[in-house]
Amino acid sequence: MNDGVDFPPDSAARWEWPPQELERVGRRVAGIVARYLTELPETPAFPLFPADAAADLLATPPPEHGASVDEILEEFERTVAPYHFGQGHPRFWGWVNPPPTQIAVFSEALAAAMNPSVAGGNHAAFWLERQVVGWFCALVGLPAEAMGLLVSGGSAATLTGLAVARHVATGGEVRREGLQSGGRPLALYASTEAHSAIRKAAELLGIGERWIRTIGVDDRYRMRVDELEAAIESDLGGGIRPLAVAASAGTVNTGAIDPLAAIADVCNRHGVWLHVDGAYGAPAILTERHRVELTPLARADSLALDPHKWLYVPIDAGLVLVRDGGAMRSAFSLVPEYIPQGDESRLTGPPWLSEYGLEQTRPFRALKVWAALKHHGLAGYRESIERDIHLADRRAELIEATPELELVARGLSIVCFRHAGSDDLNRRLQEELAVSGRAFVSSTVLAGRFVLRACILNPRTRADDLEQLVAAVLDIGGRL
Ligand SMILES: *Cc1c(COP(=O)(O)O)cnc(C)c1O
Repeated sequence: MNDGVDFPPDSAARWEWPPQELERVGRRVAGIVARYLTELPETPAFPLFPADAAADLLATPPPEHGASVDEILEEFERTVAPYHFGQGHPRFWGWVNPPPTQIAVFSEALAAAMNPSVAGGNHAAFWLERQVVGWFCALVGLPAEAMGLLVSGGSAATLTGLAVARHVATGGEVRREGLQSGGRPLALYASTEAHSAIRKAAELLGIGERWIRTIGVDDRYRMRVDELEAAIESDLGGGIRPLAVAASAGTVNTGAIDPLAAIADVCNRHGVWLHVDGAYGAPAILTERHRVELTPLARADSLALDPHKWLYVPIDAGLVLVRDGGAMRSAFSLVPEYIPQGDESRLTGPPWLSEYGLEQTRPFRALKVWAALKHHGLAGYRESIERDIHLADRRAELIEATPELELVARGLSIVCFRHAGSDDLNRRLQEELAVSGRAFVSSTVLAGRFVLRACILNPRTRADDLEQLVAAVLDIGGRL
């Protein structure tokens, strides 16, 4: 098995592999990736990590002496790979977690080999990120002055976008005074269906949960624009400063898209920042079915879109776009003395990306997003996203045709449903289904009722897998 370089223990040679060792290990890892991805459908859709193995891991101290690469890779195959999270299995439909598109798996290794810090500078990784951000601005229709960053995910994108909103709403004062100067309170508007990331950002930004105005939704879980406008008007009348509206382009519960055009009109009328959470749903702008509904993304002041969701890029890959790139820089720019300044044409390059967000040392996230977009093209993405939506339609039909099941909600590629019977039965059903390994769906609560929730972001799912879910649910539901 071990035909590799025989490093003497703790030898300095471990830090500098000869080329033949790099190639040998690379081939071996490629073999593991190929086996893993090929055999995944035969494994449980949601394996559970054995309790004794977890205890063992936590009880094991770091090794004093190094092990061989082959020993480590064997351990990976034996003790890590089998206990996956489920993504990539054809019947894994939990949360918003797609399988990784293959080219991006390998792009991760290429990015790590280069290992640039994409804080800034005049090197390829910097320009690839600028290119990718420009592609997304064009895709959603943001103007040339827009700017953006690849970040860790929708949560970081939301925090970043709302930080710019706060900077603008306070006329920049927040950078000097914090929120300590006794100014008028700031309020944020989001629907009952908004993602928890929005509340988290509001709490971190010092807005406070109490100042989130929770707006009701209509019978399709979309923000009620009349209620939104009434809330803004009431705050303005009461001396409270509206900070931003956080609308959803694809809620995590049901895939609902808020009426973005009407919300943008309200924001315009009252001069309020429009943040759109499109972490999950924004890429559906590529589809015929949702293009018109999502065209108002072009009116957002800030937008979150997660390539690690519906663009099937491996975690982490989030994206924040801000219409006013100058405001974004002004909210975050703080250039330390150890960073060279001045001549843009030589060492420093154009303004650093670290001037537009929180991170200083920044990973080469752009490579995997760039490679995936180049590999599939917009047409490839359009086709795959449409296919996910089509499968969700098919799933909704199957549920409606099954008397024991109730279709509760349907949006984008999400279907929420329940088994006839109590919340408790549905709760146990979800757990038993996961433990059975036959399929995995997550859950949520809609209008006070516990529901099963299946989100298809999965090029591996076939029509037959949908039927298997219904069969498994009926089977387990019947036994409970
Ligand atoms: C996933 C998600 C988020 C949070 O994004 P992370 O990438 O998990 O940080 C926010 N909003 C929606 C609608 C999401 O689906």
